[in-house]
Amino acid sequence: MDLNLLNTILNTHSVSGFENEMREEFLNYTKEFVDSTDVDKMGNAYASIARGTDSKIYLLEAHMDEIGFQVVYIDDNGYVYIRANGSVDAQCVPGSQVDIITSSGEYINGVIGKTPIHLLNSEERGKCQEISSLWIDTGLCKDQVVNKVSLGNPVAIRPNLLYLSENVISSKSLDNKIGVFIISQVLKRLSGVNEKSLDVHGVATVQEEVGHRGAYVCESKICPDLTISIDMDFATDVPNCQKTKYGDIALGRGVVIHRSIDNDIPLTYTLEKLAKELLKKHQVSARNMPVGGTNAFVLQQSQGGNKTISLGIPCRYMHTPVEMCDINDVKSAIDLIYKYIINN
Ligand SMILES: [Zn+2]
Repeated sequence: MDLNLLNTILNTHSVSGFENEMREEFLNYTKEFVDSTDVDKMGNAYASIARGTDSKIYLLEAHMDEIGFQVVYIDDNGYVYIRANGSVDAQCVPGSQVDIITSSGEYINGVIGKTPIHLLNSEERGKCQEISSLWIDTGLCKDQVVNKVSLGNPVAIRPNLLYLSENVISSKSLDNKIGVFIISQVLKRLSGVNEKSLDVHGVATVQEEVGHRGAYVCESKICPDLTISIDMDFATDVPNCQKTKYGDIALGRGVVIHRSIDNDIPLTYTLEKLAKELLKKHQVSARNMPVGGTNAFVLQQSQGGNKTISLGIPCRYMHTPVEMCDINDVKSAIDLIYKYIINN
């Protein structure tokens, strides 16, 4: 695995609707070994290996956008107000360091401020503050702020990748840069295979966090025989997480194969059989709802309908700035997808 790439993309901002830097990273990396790359009108990025004619068409999909914010108001003192793009957990927002990305691409550093606890009354102290009541303090005066910052500019949590051990990492936006990383590594491995006919298209999609919007358009471009969608999954090996409701998913126990019905269940069983033979560990989840939650349910219904498999990487603290996952689970997903495509 190319951990340099992982480190790079985890340090790259890709707020939903503003994925341009991440798109460049994905295309610049994959263009070195795939046969072609492309970008559609919505901004989804494609990296394709098409060699020979007698192969199934695979679409490997992962969304590249991350939750974040946009600027909605600048007050007379130069404080910047924001609203969320995607399901940001408001409890985790105050005290964050952020980058405002200006229209010219410059980063303006800031912190998300709030009223000190000492100045809150007892009723206010226990309450989660709405995002609209928080502000970004850039340390600059109003004139300097309005010179550079415009309404609608994206705002991202600053990069904070931390290797907690050799395998366990914490960072903002593991959801779903890990998925894009997996796709890039599968494509790289497939690109070295000569004897087999291949028709595999990796797509890093936009705007998943604001309604699965990129996924709606990518299937029609490729018309695949099978789509494999990769996203993060809720690890339940943390305090106060109901396994009776969310299943038993842990970091370090391998890739998660989903049996929710937005997946092709017979194909899921085939993949599970391969996982048993190939991997030391893998996990199975029925998910906490029959359909939805990832792009898989959109990909399944696009065009005339598609066969879809969705895979998850266990993730603790989803949609907080300190998401956590195990690189060994990432590796197991790469191994499984690669082998499945080679075998079929
Ligand atoms: Zn998400």
